[in-house]
This record gives sequence, C-alpha cells and structure tokens, in this order.
Amino acid sequence: MSVYAYASLRRTTPCPDCRSPADWVGVQALVGDSLRWDVEVTCPGCGFAVAECGGELSDDVREELLGEHGGAVLRLRAPAHRVTVLRVLCAALGVELGAAKGVLEQVWGGTYVGTVPEVELLARRLREAGVDAVASPGRP
Ligand SMILES: [Zn+2]
Repeated sequence: MSVYAYASLRRTTPCPDCRSPADWVGVQALVGDSLRWDVEVTCPGCGFAVAECGGELSDDVREELLGEHGGAVLRLRAPAHRVTVLRVLCAALGVELGAAKGVLEQVWGGTYVGTVPEVELLARRLREAGVDAVASPGRP
C-alpha cells in the first residue's frame, strides 16, 4: 500500500515515565483508500517510546493540523453532474443528502477546505466516479 498524502503535527509532551519533555508526533495519512491517524511518542531522556496507530483524530487536533498546513481546497475542474457529486459526497463523508448539498455549495464556491489527506481522498473518490476533481493546496 502506498501513502498518497499526509499531514503531520509535532509537539512536546511530558514523558509518561520520567516527566521530561518527550516528542509527540501525529500523522494523518491517506493509506490505500482510507484515512489513518497515528501518534508516536518518544522520550530522548529515558528511551520511552509508544506508537498508537489507527486512533481517532479529535476535532481540536484536526484544527491544529489545518492551522499548521493551511489545508487543501477541493476543486472541480469541469462541470459535473450534480447528482453524481452528491452521491460521492454522501458516501465519502457519511452525511445525509442535505448536508452534502451544503458541502457541494462550498465546493462550487471554492471554499471547501479540509486537511490534505481528507481532500485528496474526496478528490480520488470523485475521480473514480468520473468527476474531474483535484485537491489543491492552500486556503481559498
Ligand atoms: Zn522519559
């Protein structure tokens, strides 16, 4: 499996063992056809190391990721069938049709922003459905 896109965050956190500053690294990655969130903590002081793979990305950490990387914008490069796009958005985001319509409005307006792996995944699903979608870096 190959990694297509990722966004990472680095912090310092107190070591669970010796309380000295430890490195905390979180990585959100698009692996295969799904998003993963992995966290690794390593302490240079005592050698403590732990990796938590496949965890849940909390909203506040996601906001930090967006803040640090600037996110990506989902763009449609050609006119697309509204129904096709809505169907993909519903399935990929796990939302109701009403919410997907709101997302679609943002996509048309060029204001739908997510983390790079999130938007890349959406763009890929759309391309698989025949929609010419891309994830472009940066805020609108
Ligand atoms: Zn330590």
